[in-house]
Amino acid sequence: MSYYPVFLNLDAQPCTVIGGGSVAARKVEGLLDAGAAVEVIAPRLHPALAALHTAGRIRWRAGTYPELALDAPVLVIAATDDAAVNRAVSANCRARRIPVNVADAPELCSFILPAVVDRSPIKIAISSAGTSPILARRIKARIEAELPARYGALARFAERWRTPVREAVPDPAARRRLWEETLDGPIAERVLDGRESQADALMQTALAGTSPARGEVYLVGAGPGDPDLLTFRALRLMQQADVVLYDRLVTPAILDLVRKEAERIYVGKARSHHAVPQEEINARLIALARAGRRVLRLKGGDPFIFGRGGEEIDQLAAQGIPFQVVPGITAASGCAAYAGIPLTHRDHAHSCVFLTGHPKDAALGVDWRTLTQPMQTLVIYMGLQGLASICAALIAHGLAPSHPAAVIQQGSTSAQRVVVSDLAHLADAVSTAALKAPTLVIVGEVVRLRERLRWFGLEEQSENAFTAPGA
Ligand code: SAH
Repeated sequence: MSYYPVFLNLDAQPCTVIGGGSVAARKVEGLLDAGAAVEVIAPRLHPALAALHTAGRIRWRAGTYPELALDAPVLVIAATDDAAVNRAVSANCRARRIPVNVADAPELCSFILPAVVDRSPIKIAISSAGTSPILARRIKARIEAELPARYGALARFAERWRTPVREAVPDPAARRRLWEETLDGPIAERVLDGRESQADALMQTALAGTSPARGEVYLVGAGPGDPDLLTFRALRLMQQADVVLYDRLVTPAILDLVRKEAERIYVGKARSHHAVPQEEINARLIALARAGRRVLRLKGGDPFIFGRGGEEIDQLAAQGIPFQVVPGITAASGCAAYAGIPLTHRDHAHSCVFLTGHPKDAALGVDWRTLTQPMQTLVIYMGLQGLASICAALIAHGLAPSHPAAVIQQGSTSAQRVVVSDLAHLADAVSTAALKAPTLVIVGEVVRLRERLRWFGLEEQSENAFTAPGA
């Protein structure tokens, strides 16, 4: 069977739904969304339908078909649990040439209902011609993931600018080029981001023919390593960038998802162990954006957590370069989840502190007493180098030597390793296991929960030097 796809204008048109259950309720909602004047024939109404009836949004004829006959609807949907009624409705409608759909009975339908991706005013209807509704739903899920939630706003933006653009750019080929650039570039990005007044301003400049500075910077958190932990927005911007600046924490699997044509610039630590200085990265971001390029600054985890993202946007803002920041899953969340260690817990931790263990930062002064509060989890970034002294300091300021602690190497990747121990033995256990950066330290009673929860996590190498009392 090959179906003819159409979109019906049902505005204020009489439509009848036969049946008053939850399936009928869903169909009624769809019809109301399209502006139809809906009448329901059913002896009783599902609470959702009863609410619509009370609100005056539907008409209800209490009773059953065929005792209650069809008036002259333009469309009928039957969703009763009585197969004979459904068949009778179908036969009657077909005889009268009224389009009819019977829920879950394609052979009784003169039209079928597609799976819909709704980005109103844009709607995408998917049909497998009844062969596999599940497959159609899968396709729907993929398109849902692909299309930004605010895509409808982009359609309305295009509608709003249609006439001004036609007037300013009479040549159809030039106009098409302008629209392609608009819908694929920084202007669209601003609409999708909810900054429509900026998009309008850029559109104005584009039409005035003055060459606007079109470059911008996307400061994007790439998560802790597993590409599946990227956000939809991160992926979208990764596929739009002209050039990407990335560092050591961005895994090759993630870098693979950046647009193939994008120039790749590594700004992390080289073999010489010297990273490109932050001032130089800032200067490069500014120069590339000034040259009109879409610059992706891709960072491990979240850009605003020990990522110096704040410094980068500070410079961009000072120079008037447009930018947007996309959060990512920070190492604490990613590593904790993949290692089976909850960061808070009703019985074990009511607060969680993220801190840097980098010796340079630690030297600036740490209030150790606040870090050794009971019922608190500590997550220490960059803690490998100073691990022994951190553990010693925590013990000196009141935590028990037997206080549980774990180190997670390359969390969320296939190279993840976890060493579980206690404060007294953690540094030794880690050096025996020869863990390599990046590693994250988690200190707290919650570490003990890993034994119970770990079957959720990755298959990984695990060194467990910790034996809980009584375990
Ligand atoms: N902005 C990043 C943190 C950058 S600081 C974020 O939000 O995650 C760098 C430190 O992050 C590393 O030294 C390490 O402590 C931690 N880290 C980042 N990714 C990690 C991973 N996959 N596994 C373990 N630690 C990680």
